[in-house]
Parts: sequence; C-alpha cells; structure tokens
Amino acid sequence: MSQTLVIKVGSALVTKEDNTLNTNFIGSFVEQIAALKKSGHKIIIVTSGAVASGRSEMKLEREDNIPYKQALAAIGQGILMNTYRDFFKKHEIVTAQVLLTNLDFKNRESFITTRNTLELLTRFNAIPIINENDVTAYAEIKFGDNDNLASKVAAMVDADKLIILTSVKGFYTDDPTKNPSAELIRELSVIDGSVKKLAKGAGSKKSLGGMSGKIKAAEFASNSGITTYIASGNDENIISNIIGGVACDFTVIHPMTEKHTSKQNWFKSQVKAGCGIIIDDGAVKALKERGKSLLPVGVSGIKGKFERGDFVEIYAQNGDIIAIGETNYSSLDLEKFKGCKNGEACYLAGAILDEEVVHRDNMVIF
Ligand code: GLU
Repeated sequence: MSQTLVIKVGSALVTKEDNTLNTNFIGSFVEQIAALKKSGHKIIIVTSGAVASGRSEMKLEREDNIPYKQALAAIGQGILMNTYRDFFKKHEIVTAQVLLTNLDFKNRESFITTRNTLELLTRFNAIPIINENDVTAYAEIKFGDNDNLASKVAAMVDADKLIILTSVKGFYTDDPTKNPSAELIRELSVIDGSVKKLAKGAGSKKSLGGMSGKIKAAEFASNSGITTYIASGNDENIISNIIGGVACDFTVIHPMTEKHTSKQNWFKSQVKAGCGIIIDDGAVKALKERGKSLLPVGVSGIKGKFERGDFVEIYAQNGDIIAIGETNYSSLDLEKFKGCKNGEACYLAGAILDEEVVHRDNMVIF
C-alpha cells in the first residue's frame, strides 16, 4: 500500500568532516528513495547540509555566529540541491527545493499554501527536498533543528511515517559513542519526563538537535498520530527494511493519538512550546473523558507568558501535555482567577469575556 513518508537526514550523514557533501551517502540514500518511489510511495525529504556546504565553498574555519551561518546557508543551499538533483536525475526523478520557516506554519494562509504546493509536487511525481530557510529565519521563528521541521512537515502532509536517519541506530539508554554498554531502546509507546531526561544524555554529537531534538520531534509526530522511526542512515537498505517490516535495528515511537484533521494539525503548529496552563485532575477528566471545555475553576497554575489568542499547552499535574488549545485569556489574567468559579473569574478579569478559558472547538486532546 502506498504510504506518505517524510524522511529526514542530518548533517552527520550528509556532510563529511571537511564540510564537503558526503556524495557516497547521498548517492546510496537517493537509490533507496528512488526504489521506494517507484513502488508507489510518496516521499518528502528534509535535509541539512547547506551551512556546511557553504563553509567548504568559502574555505572558512568553523564560524558559529548566526549572520555568518545565514550567508553560508545561502551559498551552500544551491550546492546541496545540485547534488541531490544530479543523483535523482540518474533515476529520472525530478526534485523540488522547498525552504521553510516557522512562519509558514504559524500563518494559516502560508500553512495551507505550503501544504497545497507539497501536494501538487507529489502529484507531479517530484520529490520535495526541504530545508529551513536559514537566510530569512531569525531567532523567534527558527525551528532550531531540522528534526523539529521534519515533524511539522509530517503533520502538515498527514504522513504515515516520519523516518529520522542519523549516525546511530536509534535511541539508546546512554550515548553509544561513549558508553559501550548503552542499550538500544527498540520501541516507545509514550514519551514522558523520564524518556526526555534520558534523551539529554544520548545521541550523536554532530547533529544540531541531538537525541533530545529527535525525541521532541517524535513526540510532536506521535501526538499527530504519526509513527516515528529513528535509525542509522548508514545501515544498508534501512528505509526499505523499515517500510517492509524486515527485522533490523531502530527505535520506533508509536502514535499516542488518532490522526488529527488538518485544522487540528494547524492548531498544533501554532503552539508556544513550554507555555501553558496547568489543570487539576477534575479538569483532566472533564476534557479527556467528557469532551468539555476548560473552565477557570479547573486551572491550577500557569507556565510562561502568553496572550489572549495564543495557542498554549495544557498540562496535567504531573507535567504531561494532555491537550493544546487557543486560550481566551492571557497568562496575566489567568494568574488572577485560576481556580475561581466562572462569574467570579470574569469579575476579576475586569470584563466579561468568554466563559471558557479554552473552548472545546479550539482544542486538540492527546
Ligand atoms: N538548516 C541547516 C543546514 O542546512 C541545518 C539544520 C540542522 O541540521 O538541523 O545547514
């Protein structure tokens, strides 16, 4: 059966120590993609390598300031695309460059336009090759790493699988490059605080987001109903083995929810990560089991700063994210009337606004 796959390859695979592109890797990666494409799968690639290619073109030593990196990305992006194009041409497959920033996910019009363009490209049988638009992305709208970008793309196109290829075989109990007794975790059904803590110590050193970024990306995909695989891009036929169900090494992160609608996925792409509303056990039940809106009485705490209209996370007492939604109240207002009965809350807020803190229709439950 034809599947939609978002496949992310990181710098550790695509580039060599001297910052030039690893054409041996790209060549065999493209072969795998071409074979999958010919068997009917829809494929979107998310790739790094622009900054490194720019650096090697300019013969610059490591320069870590952001303006330099942006200029280097502008120089290197063309080199990266040319290399992919040359390899895909051998398989008579057309490639398409797509450069995105977080703004393309935040703005509803851009989100829909981008999604439709990606859809049309796959109908053209072209392979979208996505990277962050480093040239225009400033701190507030940066993805931070391409793992994050790939998970948002996967949710945008309603992918069946997100495959994150890196230089290690998956998510280990410790950094496998330093600790030989680190064990590969073969599957995860939930990403909780202990998994995130473990991810901080594990991973490959060359990738920008490290294992922590990969686990965060997997959490986002998993919360969108998508299965994520973290695997080694250096293992032969790894992608077709994953798709074909052949026994091999990887970490699979199962979906933690049913697939969401495109509107719900758009909600999710709006969320200010780490900002939100902590609710009590009664409210968790009301939201999860009874399909209710969130009322002031169920709010027990606030995390971070947000404004009316922002999309925020909704946490249970133990810190787990149980939902996201568009808040009708700012963090400042909520701080004033958390736990209050409705009428009292409106009075304290100084105006009669909405009864609900987050209306059911503007919420996605995990
Ligand atoms: N966009 C950056 C590049 O192409 C890399 C970002 C990442 O590796 O996560 O060089």
